[in-house]
Amino acid sequence: MIQRVGNRGSSLPHPNFIPTVECLQRTASKLVQAGISGNTALTYNTAVESFNTFRKQYAFRAEWPARHNQIVLYIAFCFEKGLAARTIATYVAGIAFVHKINDWYDIGESFVVKKLLEGCKRQHRTRDSRAPVTLTMLSKIWEVLPLVCFSRYEITLFKAAFSVAFFWLFRVGELAVTQLGEDHPIQYADVEFIEASSVCKIIVRFTKTSQYGQPAIVKLRCEHKSQVCPVCTLREYVSKRPLGRVYCFVMQKDRG
Ligand SMILES: [Zn+2]
Repeated sequence: MIQRVGNRGSSLPHPNFIPTVECLQRTASKLVQAGISGNTALTYNTAVESFNTFRKQYAFRAEWPARHNQIVLYIAFCFEKGLAARTIATYVAGIAFVHKINDWYDIGESFVVKKLLEGCKRQHRTRDSRAPVTLTMLSKIWEVLPLVCFSRYEITLFKAAFSVAFFWLFRVGELAVTQLGEDHPIQYADVEFIEASSVCKIIVRFTKTSQYGQPAIVKLRCEHKSQVCPVCTLREYVSKRPLGRVYCFVMQKDRG
């Protein structure tokens, strides 16, 4: 026995039913929406919103079809904002979709738009994700050191190394040996405390910016008001540092 699934027959309109033009327009709109996936529709909506916000910011007329020149400037705007080339292309595709669906001119076929998107790809500028360390940030790093270090010695070592790096703008390779292995970390023999003036003097024999291989002498005074004074911190570290090691900043051998 064949079961009938549902009873669609009764919901179908009468064969003589003639829908209005408005009804056909609504249906056409629904069918188009059903023809694109939810995520794509969402992305395109975001694109159109972004484009409209851009036009508002620059007091451009928010008219459709969008002016070619507005799209050109919008791509440049996205690029200046640091958006990835792929994101810019997706946004332009969103605007192009609005044009296609309305049978307006094809943005994607514009020679200039194509070249602009190609240029975005080639001159892709990525934002530098490295944030400069601030004094507040340095203090926060100090606060978490006890949570990540193995011993009190390590806490003192890293406090000193980070403070010295911060106040003297040292590069990593000037303080420690990195994976590249082409570094010249400062040596313990080149560190001198001038007690009378609360100054620490360090001879940096190799620096990246020294073209003629001449050593640089860096000096810093005690930052009495600062909790993260590099001179006091370095002095404390040096008092605990194992003897007989060449480099200034060294780990304990029996770290475990
Ligand atoms: Zn100090």
